[in-house]
Amino acid sequence: MVKISTSFAAVAALSLSASLSLVSAHGHNSLLEKRAAAICKTVYTTPVAAGQYPDIDCVPFIQDPQVQTWLKLVDFTKTPTFKPSVVDATTGSTCPPAGTVIPADQCWWTCQKCEAKDDITACPTPGTWGLTYDDGPSPDSTRLYDYLQQHNQKATLFIVGSRAVSYPNLLKRAYSDGHHIAIHTWSHHAMTSLTNEQVVAELKWTEKAIFDTIGVTPIYWRPPFGDIDARVRNIATQLGYKTSIWTQNFDTNDWNIPGGTATPQSVTDTFKSWLVNIPSMKTGFIVLEHDLFPQEVDVAITSILPLAYQQKGLNIVPIAQCLSDAKPYKEGAGTFKLQGNTTSGSGSGPTVKPSAGQALSIISGGQVALTAGATFLMAALVGA
Ligand SMILES: [Zn+2]
Repeated sequence: MVKISTSFAAVAALSLSASLSLVSAHGHNSLLEKRAAAICKTVYTTPVAAGQYPDIDCVPFIQDPQVQTWLKLVDFTKTPTFKPSVVDATTGSTCPPAGTVIPADQCWWTCQKCEAKDDITACPTPGTWGLTYDDGPSPDSTRLYDYLQQHNQKATLFIVGSRAVSYPNLLKRAYSDGHHIAIHTWSHHAMTSLTNEQVVAELKWTEKAIFDTIGVTPIYWRPPFGDIDARVRNIATQLGYKTSIWTQNFDTNDWNIPGGTATPQSVTDTFKSWLVNIPSMKTGFIVLEHDLFPQEVDVAITSILPLAYQQKGLNIVPIAQCLSDAKPYKEGAGTFKLQGNTTSGSGSGPTVKPSAGQALSIISGGQVALTAGATFLMAALVGA
């Protein structure tokens, strides 16, 4: 029963776009991530019609009159002039070859581990976990949203514009559930590899797709793969966005399960190792997780969150909550409700906590289903 539903979800995930052949890095030089890739036009022909959007999963054309209007919002003379990076066809990395000197003031998060003053990379209060899910909404987001709802748990959801257009009702549900909705670009390309104008187009089309669907304008954004430098950061800041990444080394690697370079068990083991260290950390933290592929949602709701809910003293909240930001949208609070000073088990924290026995049985059940899903995905990849 579980196997059937997981495979069905995998089919749905595959239908996100025409093929599943792009291999790109996720902020790591050596690890690969298989993601949906569209076949994109290379030559601009006609403007995007009113009420329509750029091609799904393609970098929007900057010649479009709508984009030309948005470009006026940015003073590019104030933008640092670092050249766009080149995505390595083999590794997917945007970082230059080893030994290349990158200027310190480029402050490239992925390649230099550099954090700018205003980058959001942690929750300030110890024991506080900024819960985030990237790359949705997808058909599997429903299972995540259901689980979060059952546990009165809110999260920050970094939305891909192309997914918002494909699944507007899922975005509406996420918003009405009270999650913190944020921007994760239109086509999920590495932002440092794009031109200044393309960066604007990626951010503003996503903002528009989200606004058209739920009526609010997100202020928070996260660069795909954490790939941001001073140039991209400057453009995002000029457009009024707050750059939110994640805490160094708090990547669950859930995104590697579909490609087979991580397993539900390895992700769970990684998470368990954090639980040991969290009590001695001087700040809280923000974790990288996803809800694009079924395996990512599976590990979140059958392993990571059940384990977290057993951990005493953890306060699991959206980023806006951990920063005490009552207005994560340009229009204000929207459906987001800032809770008072919360501690574990109150406020927006979980209200249902599974026992240890329950969690373990869920984990082992999930692994069976995950194997089926991964096999299905790999079969599809070979065929693509
Ligand atoms: Zn992403």
